[in-house]
Amino acid sequence: MHFQSLATFFFSCWLASTALISTAQADDRLRIVTDIAPVHSLVSMVVGDDAAIDLLVPPSQSPHGFSLKPSQVRAISNAQLVIMLSDDFTPGLSRHTDALNNDVVVVQLSDTAQAHENRNVEREYSEHQDAEHDDHAHDKHTDDQHTWLNVENAIAWIDVIEKAAIMADAQSQTRYQENSAKAKADLTALHQRIQTQLANLADKKYLVYHDAYQHFATGYALATPIAIALSDARAPSAAKIKAIQKQVSAASCIFSEQQHDDAIVDMIASGQSIKRGMLDPMGSRFDTGPAHYSNTMLELANSFSQCLSD
Ligand SMILES: [Zn+2]
Repeated sequence: MHFQSLATFFFSCWLASTALISTAQADDRLRIVTDIAPVHSLVSMVVGDDAAIDLLVPPSQSPHGFSLKPSQVRAISNAQLVIMLSDDFTPGLSRHTDALNNDVVVVQLSDTAQAHENRNVEREYSEHQDAEHDDHAHDKHTDDQHTWLNVENAIAWIDVIEKAAIMADAQSQTRYQENSAKAKADLTALHQRIQTQLANLADKKYLVYHDAYQHFATGYALATPIAIALSDARAPSAAKIKAIQKQVSAASCIFSEQQHDDAIVDMIASGQSIKRGMLDPMGSRFDTGPAHYSNTMLELANSFSQCLSD
């Protein structure tokens, strides 16, 4: 059930779900399932220790090729609240969230906060692609769902997470509201810090492993990324690789990614004098929890700043 439609039916469902928890669980905290580590982190900022939060995709793994373990399918079916980026970002997730009872709150963050910005980014990107290259055989539009990489989106999601948490666990309302206010202040400072750090790099061209950084580029006024693989990390066609190779000489940096093999980046960079960088959009080196999101974003900003600066 979608977040918006849930509000109407909440009270009747709430009675049913509370009855269920008290008999089934010793740990009677709110049970939340999240899809990826950055979302898990934002949720932890809001709920603190008042909820038990499961994370489906460990940050060391790519969400694009991920398949759920049976224990994770059970965690989803036991959840009272599912908060995810979107149900099609991690393949196979929607099958299990669709099967949930109507008393479970399911929130898709990209849906609730980002539909508008997404469409704008898509249009700008496709216009840019059409203007830059006469290469219409592929990628007429993009579908970059890596929306957490602009901290402004995360700030908007904090309100959505707070409302959903209160809906599922009204007793902790005051704490959720306090945590949420602090999270928004911290994230606002983080956003400004990254904007300052990456100011004056707008003219630097760069290549990235996959089409995941349009929201980052929008948020921090960087050039539109030249992506090698598609937004779901599928490999590019031979024609696209050829077109990309032509753009390397004008670029300042080419980024590999922590969750993906370097081979294709090595091939594109080979024989060219271009700086190499590494991006880790899932924050694989950091412990999951409330600080994970900020750590991930700061490290990403450092990677861009180091590789794009002269
Ligand atoms: Zn991705």
